[in-house]
Amino acid sequence: MAETPKSYEPKEIEARWYAEWMARGYFHADAAAPKAPFAIVIPPPNVTGSLHMGHALGTTIEDVFTRWRRMAAYNAMWLPGSDHAGIATQMVVERELREREKKSRHDIGRAAFVERVWDWRKRTGNRIFEQLKLMGCSLDWERAIFTMDPPYSAAVIEAFVRLHEDGLIYRARRLINWCPSCRTALSDLEVDYDEGTQGELYEFAYPLADGSGEVVVATTRPETMLGDTAVAVHPDDPRHRAKIGKKLRHPFVSREIPIIADAILVDPKFGTGAVKVTPAHDPNDFETGQRHNLAMISIFDEAGVVNKEGGPFAGLDRFAARKAVKAKLKELGLERGSKPHVHAVGHCQRCETVVEPMLSTQWFVKMEPLAKPAIEAVEQGKTKFVPETWSKTFFHWMHNIRDWCISRQLWWGHRIPAWYCAACNEAMVARTAPTACGKCGATELTQDEDVLDTWFSSWLWPFATLGWPNETRELKTFYPTTLLDTGYDILFFWVARMMMAGLYFMKKVPFRTVYLHTMVTDEKGEKMSKVKGNTIDPVEVIDKHGADALRFSLAWLTTSAAQGKNIKFAVGNAEDARRFANKIWNAKNFTLMNLDGYDADRFADRVADGPDRAEFDLPERWILSRVQRAAEMVDGALEEYRIADAAQAAYHFIWHELCDWYIELAKAGFARAGADVEARSKIQGALVTALETAMRLLHPFMPFITEEIWQQLPKPSGAPQSIMITLYPVRDVRFYDDASEASMALVQKVIVALRNIRTERKIPSSARVKALLAVGDDYKKTILEGYKTIIAEQGRCAEVRVRRSGASFSGEYQLSKMAMTMAGDVEVMVPLEGLVDTKDEAARLEAEKAKLEKRLGDLKRKLGDPKFVDRAPLEVVDKARAELAELEAALAKLVDGLRRLGGG
Ligand SMILES: [Zn+2]
Ligand SMILES: [Zn+2]
Repeated sequence: MAETPKSYEPKEIEARWYAEWMARGYFHADAAAPKAPFAIVIPPPNVTGSLHMGHALGTTIEDVFTRWRRMAAYNAMWLPGSDHAGIATQMVVERELREREKKSRHDIGRAAFVERVWDWRKRTGNRIFEQLKLMGCSLDWERAIFTMDPPYSAAVIEAFVRLHEDGLIYRARRLINWCPSCRTALSDLEVDYDEGTQGELYEFAYPLADGSGEVVVATTRPETMLGDTAVAVHPDDPRHRAKIGKKLRHPFVSREIPIIADAILVDPKFGTGAVKVTPAHDPNDFETGQRHNLAMISIFDEAGVVNKEGGPFAGLDRFAARKAVKAKLKELGLERGSKPHVHAVGHCQRCETVVEPMLSTQWFVKMEPLAKPAIEAVEQGKTKFVPETWSKTFFHWMHNIRDWCISRQLWWGHRIPAWYCAACNEAMVARTAPTACGKCGATELTQDEDVLDTWFSSWLWPFATLGWPNETRELKTFYPTTLLDTGYDILFFWVARMMMAGLYFMKKVPFRTVYLHTMVTDEKGEKMSKVKGNTIDPVEVIDKHGADALRFSLAWLTTSAAQGKNIKFAVGNAEDARRFANKIWNAKNFTLMNLDGYDADRFADRVADGPDRAEFDLPERWILSRVQRAAEMVDGALEEYRIADAAQAAYHFIWHELCDWYIELAKAGFARAGADVEARSKIQGALVTALETAMRLLHPFMPFITEEIWQQLPKPSGAPQSIMITLYPVRDVRFYDDASEASMALVQKVIVALRNIRTERKIPSSARVKALLAVGDDYKKTILEGYKTIIAEQGRCAEVRVRRSGASFSGEYQLSKMAMTMAGDVEVMVPLEGLVDTKDEAARLEAEKAKLEKRLGDLKRKLGDPKFVDRAPLEVVDKARAELAELEAALAKLVDGLRRLGGG
């Protein structure tokens, strides 16, 4: 689209207004303000992060609600912050260290490394905040917090100590997920499973120690046999019953392993019915080991290399060991075959390395007692999910929850507040470093080397950000928060855990509503990824088309999110939204050009109780009523978290009603009014009111352009200094005018019909036609008579004549030389003589008749379907019935017209 100099240029305007809002302190919410609170805490972006489309979507949604509520006189507070993102940040800084100084973190040591991370954060850690400002986010920056800030860290330690005191945190040697590359434990949630990995099911034999035969077992990971400490069979399996209790000889290490009976682990229908048991490297085997008191032998070191327990294979990487073990088994004649096997393989979420189940001493949180109150809170509706279907997913996970491994073998993060006594091994958990061992009094104490899982700090987010454990004014005012918006992918990582922590530490749910948005994909529905090269950088979109355009297009696209589908985004969506911005900008230009002599105070007085019907013309009564309907729709949709519906209702009003219709009507109105100041002022007032109200309605979605336009519009004295602090439009029923809306709808239909005739018959736009209207209903006839001028102006008619149906115009015009169409049940006819060729009117009418018949057939089928009639809302069914009646009348008239043509 060619850019004219008058088109909207977002860049300068957006930068100017954001700075202005900041300077005026509009984003800050005073916790002591005597207003109803509305609070959102931002899902803290990683300190390593830069803005991606997911953030753009989430922050658009959050800002829409915050701005909307702020304008509805709530004490709206949207709290910003960032997450230290332990493993992710550590990896970034390690990479930098390696690239710049060719050193590993071990080369410089823990203290120096942590120093580097802080330094890195100082240099780049606020980048995402700056990007959020470009988005127009009305975040309360004075409250910005980082999860490693001292007060926040104190809250993390407090939570750990309290849970430990209450017996909900324990240290134990358990089987955990280990990443041999990151060299840290991972929680179950940090492991991604590749469900369809093609592997093999490898069979080999363990010889019985007494030489009486062998037992064949199958495995997808032959190398783990180095850690086998039993073979299990089903107690009722006749193939193996006699062998239970006998010993097998391990071919590589000097131990005999027992044959045990276990009905839980073994499915006798699967394979040979004998299962090798590796308690130290498989979760099911671990449990079996506990049931049977088996030795648990770890065969790998932290890097996934076989340790001395692996006998001849020690020193081999786990995958090399797999090959070597197989080769050796073959050599010994113990290989019994292999077949292809599809199974799920766990990968580290950070680095994609295959995760190794490892036996390790770690810290855990006992989750079941925490999950219970969270389940109840959702059951009781104390927290609601939008869309509601997510509660099912939530319940399922919460009912099957497992203990959470919270220690990480990293350096960047909150160090675990536990100290160990060198003399007696006593472990002490404390808020501050103890000076002596509580058990033996020794003073040589060392702190646990590990740090806490990053999510252990993020699960405290809704209250630790507000000053917990202190009883602050902020907590009192803003907790529980009103709304949490986040991607559904972190429902368990974060949302469920915040529910648990909030209920445990605050005794109240952390948020009333959880809005779970879907993911933003590319236009084909593919996940955006740097590797695929299909990412869209929101900052680039903002640079080109403005933040308003990006925000509006995302809000618009949340339709698919409401249906649980991902949001397919293309830059074209932002271009469309930018065209919308241009349209509004042009409407503003038209308005400002026509405001000579306008007095905003006078107009405000005049419509203080709604417009006087006798004083205002139809277009003004109509637009003043329509803008209130739009307010009802937009505000109502936001109340129900239907963001896309809200955005679309605002768009529809502005584009189709205000710009396409009212501005055209106003042009004609101004032309008619000429120099009549009084007549002009009513049109001016309606125009300004409609546009000003529309800007407020649209403000939460497109904050910048709406502010700029709002500032330029005349307002009554005493108006606020910024659109941000005006009141959000809610329906004002004093402006509702059903009669005018019905009249206008009828007039619009006739005008559209006239325009269609002009287009279809290629009538030159300069030609003024005659319009002949015939209608059966007396009331409609009166309306059409009354608004002939408007019809003539908008339909470019020299003359408009209205008759009762049946009364014929044929005395005056030759029917065969008329174009005819239906506007609802109004016959619209245009004599074509002298304008265009008239011979194919009959064919055209036939085509229109076919169209009407098809629509009528569809409607009849729909209304004949009991499913539709019973399930659709009453007004939808009523509307369909009314349309049916109108279509039937229209068809009858068309048939009549055709008959007359045939006869004419
Ligand atoms: Zn990893
Ligand atoms: Zn001690």
